[in-house]
Amino acid sequence: MPHTVYVIGAGPAGLAAAAALKSKGVDATVLEKSEHVGNAWRHHYDRLHLHTTRGLSQLPGLPIPREFGRWVARDDVVRYLEAYAAHHDLRIEHGVEVSRLDRADGAWTVTTAEGKRAADAVVVATGYNHTPHVPDWPGQDSFPGQVVHASRYRNPAPYVGQNVLVVGAGNTGAEIAQDLAENGAASVHIAIRTAPHIVPRNQGPWAAQYTGLLVRHLPTALVDALSVPVRKASFPDLSHLGLPIPEVGLATRVAQGAIPVQDIGLVAAVQAGTVRVVVPIERFDGGEVVLSDGARLTPDVVLAATGYRRALEPVVGHLGVLGDQGKPIVTNGRPAAPGLYFTGFTNPISGMFREMAADARRIARNVVGGR
Ligand SMILES: Cc1cc2nc3c(=O)[nH]c(=O)nc-3n(C[C@H](O)[C@H](O)[C@H](O)COP(=O)(O)OP(=O)(O)OC[C@H]3O[C@@H](n4cnc5c(N)ncnc54)[C@H](O)[C@@H]3O)c2cc1C
Repeated sequence: MPHTVYVIGAGPAGLAAAAALKSKGVDATVLEKSEHVGNAWRHHYDRLHLHTTRGLSQLPGLPIPREFGRWVARDDVVRYLEAYAAHHDLRIEHGVEVSRLDRADGAWTVTTAEGKRAADAVVVATGYNHTPHVPDWPGQDSFPGQVVHASRYRNPAPYVGQNVLVVGAGNTGAEIAQDLAENGAASVHIAIRTAPHIVPRNQGPWAAQYTGLLVRHLPTALVDALSVPVRKASFPDLSHLGLPIPEVGLATRVAQGAIPVQDIGLVAAVQAGTVRVVVPIERFDGGEVVLSDGARLTPDVVLAATGYRRALEPVVGHLGVLGDQGKPIVTNGRPAAPGLYFTGFTNPISGMFREMAADARRIARNVVGGR
């Protein structure tokens, strides 16, 4: 049994891993750079709710309270994570940022600004959405308006009366565009490079997440084929509005890292014309944004819902454990190197909270087994 185990990050993935370890008798220390648990959730936009169900989002050893409802609100996610850390009596050191991991003589060295610590095992849970990414569009410096990453968006109040161009149609871009359109923006466009797959978040009691779980282990080609009639039954043809059924199938896109948009109102907004879909930005030209079809828009604000980087390179890049797009090669609770684990770096159709809970249990088993 390893004596010293560090978990890096006190988001849901790190807390789940620490709790699962504790249930196996390993009292890990969580190192968290911020002053809070669930730091990322404290900064998400106000209207955000989990799009995965309460029951399928709970972490090991503590259900999410029933009174939080089926689709748990952002503030309640934070409350749950605080209660989770307290319930499991997790040892968390705040204000400690890990800058590098090294392995020598069968042990890990965890480097922080305050010094080095030795560890038998380390769980990296620093987040899939670690560092906001804004593309470097040509001419951007000439733009007099604001370019704001979606991670800084809280609510529509600052954008009332403004022309806003949202870039990117993942779940975040889709919901922010809807939020702006419903709450007083003068105009809302959404620039889309690759048409997203769109599924209703739920149809009555049936959540999209349930379908995701059912089809998860089916062959990719079969799910790709099945998703087309499901889309046609769920939504009218939206091709003329810029949202065609994507050529690349749903499961193939998920395997590439793009989960479908869980619709809670974007489709209606696009149909109503309150959100207008446009092609991607090619460049900025002073106050104008030139799109890839040559059209020009004059937004006051460009809201970049353009994703995040993992930013794992400085910490573990030298260990040969990172692959495509800086993501860990080995996940799912298996050791990436002896005593080194990553959790929270896969984005399956079945939901990340659920995946992090499963990872946590596997990591705990492997750590106890000395792997
Ligand atoms: C807008 C949005 C909505 C989402 N909705 C859902 C949903 O409905 N259902 C679902 O299953 N998933 C959802 N997700 C995906 C995922 O569940 C969340 O992003 C979740 O917070 C990921 O948890 P995590 O612990 O892996 O990472 P994070 O929550 O990002 O936590 C990482 C923690 O590590 C800390 N940290 C980072 N680097 C260091 C370091 N070097 N040293 C020390 N500490 C460090 C950070 O401060 C942070 O507290 C959503 C994601 C986003 C962005």
